[in-house]
Amino acid sequence: MNPLQTVLDELKELEQAVRADGAIAPANVWVDTYTPGGRKTSYARKRSDRALWDGKKTKGLGKVGGDAHLDFEQSIKRRKALEEITRRAVSLQAMLDNPIWEPEAEDMEEADSRPVIIRDRDFSLFRSRGEKKPWRWEGCGRFGGQNSGDQRFTSELAAERDAAKVLSAPSLTIDQSEYVPPQAKKTAPKQKKPVSYVCKVQPPRGRVHVYGGEMGPGKWNEAALCGERPSSKGWQLSGLADIDCGKCERRLKEYQESD
Ligand SMILES: [Zn+2]
Repeated sequence: MNPLQTVLDELKELEQAVRADGAIAPANVWVDTYTPGGRKTSYARKRSDRALWDGKKTKGLGKVGGDAHLDFEQSIKRRKALEEITRRAVSLQAMLDNPIWEPEAEDMEEADSRPVIIRDRDFSLFRSRGEKKPWRWEGCGRFGGQNSGDQRFTSELAAERDAAKVLSAPSLTIDQSEYVPPQAKKTAPKQKKPVSYVCKVQPPRGRVHVYGGEMGPGKWNEAALCGERPSSKGWQLSGLADIDCGKCERRLKEYQESD
């Protein structure tokens, strides 16, 4: 089967798991907390940019850490998970609907050999909408400023192949590297080591741990950075990269700074 189709099917399953897990928070609703003057207890409330609740833009959720607050936080987590799943699925679907064009031999001879610069906006599938991070080209796994810049391809076909190569990789490993300005690159050539996000059950129900390295054959039963071991079935690659394990999060930095 087409590897893109396989990833798409996995995303559909993940979507069903998220929906089955519970309520989904409406769009444009978030949570803030406040401490009324002279009180020691903090409270949580839903907030929207529209008047959704009896003409008001806020609605109380009780004490911070209470059931209503935590339940609503969970529903926001599900909403974010669905947004991420949708974003990925739409991109994959677009690639499946427009099969990569294969040139005929005679077209090749006529083809212009000057490199065509394919700009990042042609590959918006790699950018989370609204994310104020510099652009990241996943093909090289590093933040490369607002534009991929140094990513040049001789044809659109070559660029698409490069993108497909990343998407069809069995592991959805997401590089944690941060943007390195070009001038800093010379003095700090060290690249961060790859990590994989693993879980026993897909989020939001399951916890996401970090495995130090590329998860794959022979490694499914190895311990995560926190020491946690997988279930008897071995780890699953997490569809999301939200680390739910504090210990893994703390050890991630040490791991990437070690030799
Ligand atoms: Zn962990």
